[in-house]
Amino acid sequence: MSLPAVPVAQSPEDKFREYLASRSRPQRYTGQQRDLVRHVFAQHNHFDAEILIDDLKKAGLHMSRATVYRTLNKLVDAGMLRRLEFGPRTFFEHDYGYPQHEHLVCARCGRIIEFQSPAIDAQLRDVCSQHQFQTSGHTLVVRGTCAECNRARATKRRLDLI
Ligand SMILES: [Zn+2]
Ligand SMILES: [Zn+2]
Repeated sequence: MSLPAVPVAQSPEDKFREYLASRSRPQRYTGQQRDLVRHVFAQHNHFDAEILIDDLKKAGLHMSRATVYRTLNKLVDAGMLRRLEFGPRTFFEHDYGYPQHEHLVCARCGRIIEFQSPAIDAQLRDVCSQHQFQTSGHTLVVRGTCAECNRARATKRRLDLI
């Protein structure tokens, strides 16, 4: 399930190239970085570095772990990806061209449900203005068990009683 995309002025590739060129020591946009950016931005997903390394391999794209980790950090720095702490592992998702949203994370099956809440956004805006705090974004992660896992547990409990 994906939320509708937000229109953006630049393609992810152009935005990343601009970021690299704007560094105090400008960096080259390499073919491997291009492959990674195209792969990550082809579809909205929540992934960690290990999942991405596997996916790239399956897609026939070979790059070192170091390159993948380094490029992910640069994409976060460029404001294109955001980090999500869903548990012990750090996940990423693309932020550029994707609307603000929150997450429900199932501790049993790992399912991630995205939702948008204007009420939460409004509340946070109020809190920030009370503190004269200038926000650059937020991440809300709600942990628990999803409907399907709850049903499975209820069924198991019923069976245990028979
Ligand atoms: Zn679940
Ligand atoms: Zn998300």
